[in-house]
Amino acid sequence: MKITVGISSCLLGENVRYDGTHKYDAYINEELSKYFEFRPFCPEMAIGLGVPRKKIHLVQLDSGVICVGIENPDMDVTDALIECANTQVSQQNELCGYIFKKGSPSCGTENVKLLIEGDYQKIGQGIFVQQTIKNFPRLPIEEEGRLSDPKIRESFIQRVKAFHKLKMLESEMK
Ligand code: SF4
Repeated sequence: MKITVGISSCLLGENVRYDGTHKYDAYINEELSKYFEFRPFCPEMAIGLGVPRKKIHLVQLDSGVICVGIENPDMDVTDALIECANTQVSQQNELCGYIFKKGSPSCGTENVKLLIEGDYQKIGQGIFVQQTIKNFPRLPIEEEGRLSDPKIRESFIQRVKAFHKLKMLESEMK
C-alpha cells in the first residue's frame, strides 16, 4: 500500500506556474512515486490567480509578512493563501507527508526571498506552507531541492513511514 503524501502540483509536471511552465522533478516522479501516492495541490491556482499570472512576493511590514503582487503591491493575497490552507484541512488530514516547491512565496518552506526595506533577504517562508505547518505541526515536510541530498531524502522517507505508522495506531485506538 502506497503512503499518501501531498505535493506542490508543479513538481509533478503540471503547468501551473506563473508563466505556464512546470518544475517536473525526475526523482520524485520516477522513484518516490513507487512508494508514495501523491496528492497534488497548487495554492495559487486554488485562490484563482490563474495561468499565466503576475508574480507575487513576500514583503516584511511592521505588522508582519504579507504576500503581494510585485508589479501591483495593492494585490494582497496573504489572507487568501491562509484561508486556502485552512480549507484544505480535511483533505490534508489524510496526508503522511508533504513535498513543497522551494523558493515559492506560497510553497517554499525556508530561504524564500523576503523584501525588507527595499532589499531581498532569503529568510522567508511561503504563506501557504506556514499555515499548513500551523494546522499540522507533526506532518513531515520537505522541499524538492533538499531531496537530492541522500541523507535528507532517507530521513524524510523514514519520517513519513513513521508518521504513517503512528496515524494507523492512533486510528486503531479510537
Ligand atoms: S510552487 Fe506552489 S504555488 Fe507555485 S506553481 Fe508550484 S504548486 Fe503552485
